[in-house]
Amino acid sequence: MSIKLDGKKLSLEIEEKLNNYIFNNKKIAKRTPGLAVIRIGEDPASGVYVKNKERACSRVGIRSIIFHLKDNVEQKEVEQLINKLNLDNDIDGMLLQLPIPKKFDDQKLISFINPSKDVDGLNEKNIGKLVKNEPAMRSCTPAGIVNLLKSQKITIEGKKIVVIGRSLLVGKPLSLMLLNLNGTVTMTHSKTLNLNKVCKEADILIAAAGKPNLIDSSFVKEGAVIIDVGIHRIESSDKNKTRLCGDVLLEDVIPKVFAYTPVPGGVGPMTVTMLLVNTIFSWQKQFGLSSTLNDLLP
Ligand code: NAP
Repeated sequence: MSIKLDGKKLSLEIEEKLNNYIFNNKKIAKRTPGLAVIRIGEDPASGVYVKNKERACSRVGIRSIIFHLKDNVEQKEVEQLINKLNLDNDIDGMLLQLPIPKKFDDQKLISFINPSKDVDGLNEKNIGKLVKNEPAMRSCTPAGIVNLLKSQKITIEGKKIVVIGRSLLVGKPLSLMLLNLNGTVTMTHSKTLNLNKVCKEADILIAAAGKPNLIDSSFVKEGAVIIDVGIHRIESSDKNKTRLCGDVLLEDVIPKVFAYTPVPGGVGPMTVTMLLVNTIFSWQKQFGLSSTLNDLLP
């Protein structure tokens, strides 16, 4: 029987440890960790993601502050807010909730974030350190996936790993992290020829294409591990309702694989948990707290 890589369960286990860690250290730091979230405009999915992050922060004892800006603000005003938060000693981490309206230059805004507060790990300094395999803030979804694999003692070293997608948010940082862990990584994209054949070689196949049910069992090697990053709301068979699905047609793939992530409850919760971890890392660094945080992760 295939193993379900239960991101929800693992994230709750890690959160409990993070909560204890904050509780035991807040007297030394004289304050709890602080996270600022900048949201621009009214993208409904972003609203849900920001709410989830806010709730997760309050579960572990991180103070979160949401800056919800109207989409008629100017790029300069957002830059000024970021600069203000960079200088705010009570803020350990900050993130810009993506996507933001097209009129903004999101990469330029991210480059304004102080790398030590860049809890999404998307600033070019942190990406550069990832390329060089030096310690730095790592992007949350890739870090969550690595920890999910580690939690089930799934070896990365020496494995053939295929990543579908090459975005700055998921595919590229994930491929680099797996490469740094000595996986043999192939990064694929919409122009890859014979995607099906390439995927079938994978010991670990990671789908981050953003295409509902793209991957069926014909893409998957017997006994592989499949990680589904995609998340989509689609119409359910009951017409008035919707349901969530990923990039993988799970019911078709599960009988063939060694392990899989469900959607929802796989990669998503781990992404949020790694955001908490990054915020606490930054807090820990600022106050020179004992470095036991790594012990809290798988
Ligand atoms: P993205 O920026 O749209 O990138 C998608 C990537 O997939 C691109 O590199 C694209 O190739 C590639 N692609 C698209 N169609 C393909 C196909 N048919 N065959 C092969 N490659 C294909 O998306 P993203 O931000 O990386 O996110 C991907 C998915 O993960 C989305 O569903 C998103 O909602 C989800 N997500 C989930 C979490 C989570 O926590 N669970 C976090 C982040 C994202 P090109 O470069 O050639 O266009």
